[in-house]
Amino acid sequence: MMRYRVKVQGMTCTGCEKHVSVALENIGATNIGVNFQKGEAIFKLPDGVEPETAKKAIANTKYQPGYLEKIQIQEKVRLGDEGDYDYIIIGSGASAFSSAIEAVNYGAKVAMIERGTVGGTCVNIGCVPSKTMLRAGEINHLAKNNPFTGLHTSASDVDLAPLIKQKNELVSDLRNSKYVDLIVEYGFEFIKGEAKFVDDKSIKVNGKQLSAKRFLIATGANPSIPNIPGLDKVDYLTSTTILELKKVPKRLTVIGSGYIGLELGQLFHHLGAEVTLMQRGQQILKEYDPEISEAITEALTEQGINLITGVTYERIEQDGDIKKVYVEVNGEKRIVESEQLLIATGRKPNTDLLNLHVAGVEVGPRGEIVIDEYCKTSNTRIYASGDITLSPQFVYVASYQGGVAARNAIDGQNKKQNLESVPRVTFTTPSVATVGLTEEQAKEKGIKVKTSVLPLDAVPRAIVNRETTGVFKLIVDANSLKVLGVHVVAENAGEVIYAATLAVKFGLTAEDLRESLAPYLTMAEGLKLAALTLDKDVSKLSCCAG
Ligand SMILES: Cc1cc2nc3c(=O)[nH]c(=O)nc-3n(C[C@H](O)[C@H](O)[C@H](O)COP(=O)(O)OP(=O)(O)OC[C@H]3O[C@@H](n4cnc5c(N)ncnc54)[C@H](O)[C@@H]3O)c2cc1C
Repeated sequence: MMRYRVKVQGMTCTGCEKHVSVALENIGATNIGVNFQKGEAIFKLPDGVEPETAKKAIANTKYQPGYLEKIQIQEKVRLGDEGDYDYIIIGSGASAFSSAIEAVNYGAKVAMIERGTVGGTCVNIGCVPSKTMLRAGEINHLAKNNPFTGLHTSASDVDLAPLIKQKNELVSDLRNSKYVDLIVEYGFEFIKGEAKFVDDKSIKVNGKQLSAKRFLIATGANPSIPNIPGLDKVDYLTSTTILELKKVPKRLTVIGSGYIGLELGQLFHHLGAEVTLMQRGQQILKEYDPEISEAITEALTEQGINLITGVTYERIEQDGDIKKVYVEVNGEKRIVESEQLLIATGRKPNTDLLNLHVAGVEVGPRGEIVIDEYCKTSNTRIYASGDITLSPQFVYVASYQGGVAARNAIDGQNKKQNLESVPRVTFTTPSVATVGLTEEQAKEKGIKVKTSVLPLDAVPRAIVNRETTGVFKLIVDANSLKVLGVHVVAENAGEVIYAATLAVKFGLTAEDLRESLAPYLTMAEGLKLAALTLDKDVSKLSCCAG
């Protein structure tokens, strides 16, 4: 028996899945898993039945079969033998759900354990609530700072209570439709409680021992709190609690300016607070190209956000409602005072309570679970995925890894994760989006590079928007002209970066970007202009990059 995966277009609901499933059953296929959201069907064919027969059977329904691949099967879990479950998943975030759904599609008996709220970080306290609040902040900011009239009025007091209510309703709707409802839809078991390993075959939840053939640890991460004297005696906020504030503070200090600190700091600036962002390093978003860091620094400072870099923290005190951060900057002592203090210094993996040593699971220096390219831990029965592994902390990475883990843990495929072209977006205004190598990383790999740095005032969309602080940077291999990295600071940079991701992932060249039509007056046209300016002066180009 061979196992296959075929892409299927045209499915829109579970009824469509059923039609495809029946069509496959009728030609003798078994172990059928059809997923309309992924647009694919996975099945086994008995010896003698050609895969083309399966494609024809699907085409005879009203759906369109596409790319078909043979799935390599390695050591497959024997479903339904000893043990309470085939697969126990600890955590119920994006990584856990994508893994559970994939495992159920392979016929596994799955249990998911969650100690907090179903859905984990992204939907409850991360992407969804922060982005809906950011949008509200942007609208408030635009209403007060009109780039066309040049009108700047001071931000009026924003009533946060109705915004928080709307945000909570949205979170609840999405939690139900994207998580809670799927538990019934896919038929796996959900157990509320905290899981701890007893040995490498079982865990304990609510005093009950449960065993499984395979495990997935997808327990995510939590705000990491720095060791600054006095901080433990101060009422500080984290990315979770700041999104519950009912009142915009007069002043907000943010310690840490990674993507969460920048987004939330700017959100409260847009809502009318006086915001000070502080960090130890000299350059914000230091892992990116210097041009990107400079452009976002310029944009934030132009908007009136106080940015203090190169900070040494001495202590923090609270005086009534006022939080006082005592710092030294360039040898000068300063006290930064504010009504609210946000700590946004990264997120640390939730490994400490899992009792991992009894399961033989190796933990790295920052508390992360060490995994290999198959998402397997040092114990071959136990997999891990998402933020717990300190892979890039984005929900699409967590979800992708959860899927890879299930394919390997349950279906015995030898699927390697590929995180070579992970797009990263910081949803500030302007936003920051990058994919692929920085110039420094490319050079460290010994690649001779050509770069193009295109200021945003050369991009027509930015000119008509009257928002020209920003940059496009393109890094290509000097010999092959293959696109190695794209880095953008611009309005809608997050939308632009998907095209760039395809360019990096599929090895497109600067020539390909030049030769492809780019719609005029889109920000994505900046990609083409950046490719053209590898060899030409952009000011010499006519309209439409001609
Ligand atoms: C403010 C903020 C904004 C963000 N914005 C974005 C964004 O715009 N785009 C983006 O891609 N990413 C964003 N992220 C990151 C994204 O939310 C995470 O990368 C992603 O949600 C991680 O998913 P996960 O499945 O690994 O873990 P989580 O979603 O964190 O799930 C882990 C779950 O495990 C549970 N758990 C922990 N220990 C145990 C235990 N012992 N037993 C039982 N349960 C346990 C936890 O309660 C939690 O529910 C943001 C994060 C934050 C904080």
